[in-house]
Amino acid sequence: MARLGSWIESHPEGIYVRPADAWIDPSQPKDRAWVTHGHSDHARGGHNAVLATPETLAIMATRYGPQPGGQAIAYDETIRVGDVDVRFVPAGHVLGSAQIVMEHKGERIVVSGDYKRRPDPTCPCFVPVPCDVFVTEATFGLPVFRHPDTGSEIDRLLHRLHSDPSRCVLVGAYALGKAQRIITELRGRGHHDPIYFHGAIERLNQLYESFGIALGKLRHTGGATKQEMAGHVVIAPPGALNDRWSRRLPDPVWVIRSTSSKSRIVGSRGSR
Ligand SMILES: [Zn+2]
Repeated sequence: MARLGSWIESHPEGIYVRPADAWIDPSQPKDRAWVTHGHSDHARGGHNAVLATPETLAIMATRYGPQPGGQAIAYDETIRVGDVDVRFVPAGHVLGSAQIVMEHKGERIVVSGDYKRRPDPTCPCFVPVPCDVFVTEATFGLPVFRHPDTGSEIDRLLHRLHSDPSRCVLVGAYALGKAQRIITELRGRGHHDPIYFHGAIERLNQLYESFGIALGKLRHTGGATKQEMAGHVVIAPPGALNDRWSRRLPDPVWVIRSTSSKSRIVGSRGSR
């Protein structure tokens, strides 16, 4: 009897699903790619055919241009590819993120992609699927990672913001997913003031809103004065944060990911 899961193969460029002749999240261009979600370490351009949720296809089109070989699969829809029944199930990670559930000869394999089990207002919750083999991502899998409660962290951020209206709170958050999650979590805690954003986040904000995720009043930092941004939250991708860019902000309190992986209010850095 073949060992469990023997019909998928692990390769440096991704997981190969032999009976479907398909690759999951391949890092190289392939004839047939199944893409779990839109982050660039999972979704790349250049494949001949892409199977993904409509949201992920839209994110890929935003980042890589039109995807002529894109085929949308809704959550929980099952399609047959080669000798495999394939279904995408919510992973709770970012808009459109999915686990890939595959069945072949009576055996079920689930490939998680990135996922989280904590509720996120910007995407459907992670759905556990009973299976024979579970291939899991494990970015924060070590027991050392203990993320604090989301609501109390947002409350700390708002407390910091309100304690000095002459300054802004600058949040470093990835353009896809984290930025929109922070915004919706702030809205959920009753913060309805305009939130300022770095230009690199604009298209993804618009994309989220086009899929019905309400983000409230947002403003571009470009052209805004220090006075206008004082007392407000400003969101920018970590890669865009540098002293030169932040000099336009009113004495920002930096909120960034520390080495322990937790987002923490870490205080101000020289920006005057
Ligand atoms: Zn991801």
